[in-house]
Amino acid sequence: MEQKKKHIAIIGSTGSIGTQALDVIGRFPDHFAVEVLTANGNAALLIEQAKKFKPNVAVICDESKYREVQDALWPEGVKVYAGSKSLEEVVRMEPIDMVLTAVVGFAGLRSTISAIDAGKDIALANKETLVVAGDIITELAAQRKVKLLPVDSEHSAIFQCLVGEWQNPVEKIYLTASGGPFRGRTRKELASVTREQALKHPNWSMGAKITIDSASMMNKGLEVIEAHWLFGLKAEAIDIIIHPQSVIHSIVQFADSSMKAQMGLPDMRVPIQYALGFPWRLPADYPRLDFADFAQLTFEKPDFETFETLKHAYRALEKGGNLACVMNAANEVAVEAFLNGALDFLQIAELIGDTMEAVPFLERPGIPDYEASDAAARNYARQWLNK
Ligand code: NAD
Ligand code: MG
Repeated sequence: MEQKKKHIAIIGSTGSIGTQALDVIGRFPDHFAVEVLTANGNAALLIEQAKKFKPNVAVICDESKYREVQDALWPEGVKVYAGSKSLEEVVRMEPIDMVLTAVVGFAGLRSTISAIDAGKDIALANKETLVVAGDIITELAAQRKVKLLPVDSEHSAIFQCLVGEWQNPVEKIYLTASGGPFRGRTRKELASVTREQALKHPNWSMGAKITIDSASMMNKGLEVIEAHWLFGLKAEAIDIIIHPQSVIHSIVQFADSSMKAQMGLPDMRVPIQYALGFPWRLPADYPRLDFADFAQLTFEKPDFETFETLKHAYRALEKGGNLACVMNAANEVAVEAFLNGALDFLQIAELIGDTMEAVPFLERPGIPDYEASDAAARNYARQWLNK
């Protein structure tokens, strides 16, 4: 297994994906070196991570925390930058081979595009960037001959099923979904669910935004669009299947009716490690799945009437243009409002649907159009909240 050390930048190293990625990297000091770590506001954790992993550069986006981080890290020989704008610069640094995009939301767009433009392979966790501007990102990645390696567990599963199948067209994929904490509930029951209930995911421990997205099923909607861009599939070829045990991470169906699935216990370190280490499977002692613990693996159809975010996502995918960008922005505002107690659970889907109707449709947006659509959607959604 002759391989050169991979130099990695982690954008969003203090989050759920970022910290798990560092757990992975810490296991393989001969395989990975950390070049860049970045945080939005968690200076204390960024400092701790940088002291341990000795990156070349650390970025704190919140400029008011620059001094604190700088004072702690200059004796360590780590360069410190502040402000979100620096993210676009640091991902281009010469020694970097791969950028792990572990920022949450639209905020990850510019740094992802900048990294691809500079020819860096991407381990993609930040699904919102592909939902917003998948056309531009995939085209630029092809132009720059850059790999887009999925970190999202479902997309990693599909990617793994497709290894060795490059000649064989995919007939269909099934994205599995746990169904989240509200699986099987009626709209009536959902009307009064609380933030605390929504934040209790049955199988995965993740950042707050994606946890709410999982409860509303918007996460699966975003993943349908993510799959469209990663695997070049039409909406009709992407199905969702509810699988509460989260053991089968997704399934590919081929022209001869055969299906391949990727399985394992739900542990994000596995897809993170697969993306970072690709094409190698590095030996690791993560817990193994014991079939005796799962007497039954069960499957259900998703409930599009109760979880309207799924309808919104398929509509955005079918219509194209800036609609998925608008949907994503409205969702980001809605999730924040729900977390702050300013919105009821069912209003998340309502606010998204209304914003998608209100913001003008653009057929072929460029990056500035996506930025304008994102801003227009946020504006509309905030006004909606104030009504
Ligand atoms: P998180 O909230 O735990 O972490 C987000 C990270 O991004 C933090 O390091 C934070 O400092 C940084 N950040 C947040 N806002 C920022 C901004 N405006 N500018 C710069 N940096 C910012 O989120 P997470 O759960 O780790 O998710 C990260 C991404 O990975 C999301 O797109 C999510 O959908 C995706 N993802 C997460 C999981 C998971 O298990 N957590 C699984 C699949 C996909
Ligand atoms: Mg996922």
